[in-house]
Amino acid sequence: MLAFAGRLPFLDLDQHAAAGSDRLLAASEEYRGSSAQRPAALYIIENDRIRGSFLIINARDRWAFLISAMGAFGHSAENMTPERATDIIKQAAGVPDLAVKILGIAPWTASAHVTEQYRYGRIFLAGDAAHEMPPTGGFGMNMGVQDVHNLVWKVAAVLKGLAAPSLLDTYHDERQPVARAITEQSLINATSMGRLEQTKKNAGARPEYLNEQGMIFGATYTSRAIVPDGTKAPHVADPVTDYVPSARPGARAPHVFFQRAGAQISTIDIVGNGFVLLTAGDGSIWGEAARELANDHLLPLKTETIDDEAFMSAYDLDPSGAVLVRPDGYVAWRSRAMTSEPAGTLRETISTILDRIGR
Ligand SMILES: Cc1cc2nc3c(=O)[nH]c(=O)nc-3n(C[C@H](O)[C@H](O)[C@H](O)COP(=O)(O)OP(=O)(O)OC[C@H]3O[C@@H](n4cnc5c(N)ncnc54)[C@H](O)[C@@H]3O)c2cc1C
Repeated sequence: MLAFAGRLPFLDLDQHAAAGSDRLLAASEEYRGSSAQRPAALYIIENDRIRGSFLIINARDRWAFLISAMGAFGHSAENMTPERATDIIKQAAGVPDLAVKILGIAPWTASAHVTEQYRYGRIFLAGDAAHEMPPTGGFGMNMGVQDVHNLVWKVAAVLKGLAAPSLLDTYHDERQPVARAITEQSLINATSMGRLEQTKKNAGARPEYLNEQGMIFGATYTSRAIVPDGTKAPHVADPVTDYVPSARPGARAPHVFFQRAGAQISTIDIVGNGFVLLTAGDGSIWGEAARELANDHLLPLKTETIDDEAFMSAYDLDPSGAVLVRPDGYVAWRSRAMTSEPAGTLRETISTILDRIGR
């Protein structure tokens, strides 16, 4: 892989393919071309002589070039001198007199691994330590951020004595299956493009590639930190491409715009930084119960009343219903209507999730 600085001038090449896997990273510093016509952070190159991807490194003027299927094009990690790397970059850019300064060359091989356990006693694996996947789809770093998002509120709750240590086991239960699915799909992307093989065969990416809203937004969790409400998961024709928003417990709380104090905001802007109980218009009793619970147990638990049809529809609530969203933005519990004893229901719910209070 080769990295260098500047805007890329190869935009009249109309060649498409895949994002890369295979081998080398090299770098150059002062490179200024003209990619103004079609600026992008990623350019995929595939022709008879080279297969690879230009990737922006610093969002301005430094680039990497990832060479794929090196063997098929007569290259190897061993023979990748700076001179050869320079030639390859010029060839890929389609600009023979391109000024290239190589900053570094590094061998790298794509892989697909997921740890069997996310937790080993007091050690929690996250990011690439827990899963490595081909970059075809751009999921690796995102998965790492999501891992930590899932873990940190649990660690904080346990350290503050709000939750039992058993809450930490749900980190593995929730994240490991998602990592398996995403790694598998990233690998399928890569193989669909012929990126993992020393093959010259041009293989178009499968149609799902970079059309992966289901993978991005649709991951759901099943664990004891999620309280099922007895509803069935929505039908999703293709879990890779299709995202069907749902407020079913275990799903990511869906985005819905609503009005607050004359301003339009989104439900996803009010969740996070503690638990949030979202209630529909007739949910004041839920709100009182939540405030009492928060005071009694020093819980980070806020309430937001959203008197809005679109919200009730998206969250599948009656006007008296409520949804509890965890600090990581996932729905922990939902009551589609008022229960006979809302305070008790809420207390039991939080007790189940945290495996502590009131027990
Ligand atoms: C070509 C390519 C393209 C990619 N594109 C995308 C993309 O578009 N989107 C995306 O989401 N992801 C992408 N990724 C994946 C992403 O880069 C990784 O998933 C992410 O960097 C992993 O972050 P991490 O913090 O878990 O691990 P790392 O980034 O590997 O960080 C681990 C750090 O720990 C340090 N370290 C290791 N051992 C020790 C030690 N013993 N003591 C102290 N420090 C140590 C290392 O030096 C390193 O700095 C891509 C990856 C590649 C290779």
